[in-house]
Amino acid sequence: MTTTLTPAETFKRDWLDGFVGAYGRTVRKVPGAYGVVGRHVPRPGKVAVVIGGGCGHYPAFAGLVGPGLAAGAVVGDVFTSPSAEQVYRTARAADGGAGVLFAYGNYQGDVLHFGLAARRLAAEGIDSRTVLVTDDIASGPPEAPEGRRGVAGDLLVFKVAGAAAERGDDLAAVQAAAELANARTRTFGVAFDGCTLPGAREPLFTVAESQMEVGLGIHGEPGVRTVPRLSATELADVLVDGLLPELPGTDRRVVAVLNGLGRTKYEDMFATYARIHQRLAAEGLNPVHAEVGEFVTSLDMAGVSLTLLELDDELAELYAAPCDTPAFRSGGAVLDAVEPHVTTDAALATVDGEAGEGVVDRALTAALRSLEHHEGELGRLDAVAADGDHGLGMTRGMRAAVAAARQVPPDDLSGALLAAGTAFADAAGGASGALYGVLLAETGAGLRGTCPDTATLADAVDAAVRAFTELGRAEPGDKTMLDAIEPFRQALREQARAAASVAQAWRVAAERAAKAAEATADLLPTRGRAARLAERSRGHADPGATSFALLVTAVGETL
Ligand code: ADP
Ligand code: MG
Repeated sequence: MTTTLTPAETFKRDWLDGFVGAYGRTVRKVPGAYGVVGRHVPRPGKVAVVIGGGCGHYPAFAGLVGPGLAAGAVVGDVFTSPSAEQVYRTARAADGGAGVLFAYGNYQGDVLHFGLAARRLAAEGIDSRTVLVTDDIASGPPEAPEGRRGVAGDLLVFKVAGAAAERGDDLAAVQAAAELANARTRTFGVAFDGCTLPGAREPLFTVAESQMEVGLGIHGEPGVRTVPRLSATELADVLVDGLLPELPGTDRRVVAVLNGLGRTKYEDMFATYARIHQRLAAEGLNPVHAEVGEFVTSLDMAGVSLTLLELDDELAELYAAPCDTPAFRSGGAVLDAVEPHVTTDAALATVDGEAGEGVVDRALTAALRSLEHHEGELGRLDAVAADGDHGLGMTRGMRAAVAAARQVPPDDLSGALLAAGTAFADAAGGASGALYGVLLAETGAGLRGTCPDTATLADAVDAAVRAFTELGRAEPGDKTMLDAIEPFRQALREQARAAASVAQAWRVAAERAAKAAEATADLLPTRGRAARLAERSRGHADPGATSFALLVTAVGETL
């Protein structure tokens, strides 16, 4: 659960002060009101687009004030409409003599307060019109769209209205453009977890780990139905399938907005967007503008919504016009159709099935299975004092290594190890990726042929460890994988002198490595990421030393 750092009582005041401080170049506070107007307003002769609603939705609404978008925004308490007085003061400050277009989501409190403010303005001779945003398809039936609520579609309607006002359209024309945009904009959303109000200790609702709420609003309410949790791809399909039947279907060009509700990672959103883009293209639609990010949030709600605006020539021109606000900027470029993109990546190799004939294939496949089995444990060891990625890095690297080794003829031992090392380093990344890559590749280089004897193997490992220390510059006792590697190397050398078989020598050396890896628990790291929090790692074995012991032990069982 997350709560805010800011006390509930002063939440609205405090964030607004910081916002105006940070973006004073673009916006200024309306004196005596919880509202902001652009530094560029009032502008004589231009319609003022005034937006607003409760707070907790940032960038909506204050973040969307600036040239080409809103002239002003009124700020209510969290999820609460602003009062008529606040609306009135903000609109007065924004009015440039050509009238005010109010645009906001269709909620009763907002309708009442903005309506009262409009009457006061009229009494003073200031003309105003209103466009209610009604894009949320889950909040009412398609037959009565006027009863629906406004959610992330706010951004698109405001953008079009702001561009029309910027162009110099009169009040009736700005209203018409905004109404057209609203009529062609639809949104569908899902939540993975509820949000927590400032000062509250519990979220407004929670969603079970295995579930997802479909069709939520933006005020912390659960969705209209609960479904099993979906993958990024399945989610994209649900969103697209929900929206397509609602579009007018008269134009191929759309604006797509994938909106994060406050706690959804951008990377997850892009993964979902990849599929959305594919699906739209498959339907013959062309997302000439796509916005992926946070535009209308719901405090720290986890979830996303997809909004589609089907353009026509008028809307295409207005949407493409430039704007410059704290949270949303556009240079005014019109994009051509963008092909959906699908990356192919060797690092995503899956290794199915049994190992083949080759010694390297059998050895590395056994190592992979052991690393997979211990992936969580390696991650936890790495998380004690560093970044926790060692388990995932090792399995990713070894999967790629096995896949690469299988491309090489089974009797080419050194070729297979060279290929495995290169693939390992590429796929695993990180310090250990580079270091293991060198160990594998250099061992391969030292073997030069097929089936080595113990002395050749010991020589190859000697050379590999030399290359390893040249690269990593670790010394024995630094608490790195070298503290398991060095005893392994020495044991192999002793066994070679005693004329032991390769299998026998390897087993002895692997046992030595396993003991040494355990003993690293008593050391303090001076290399790599863990050095900064060295004390924390006391009593825990080094992750790299541990993975090395696992690896050589598993290999030993195949020889
Ligand atoms: P990263 O540190 O980039 O997150 P990993 O977590 O995969 O990479 O690997 C961490 C392990 O790498 C450490 O436990 C240590 O054994 C090893 N390591 C890090 N730096 C060095 C180095 N300079 N020399 C030898 N081994 C190192
Ligand atoms: Mg790490």
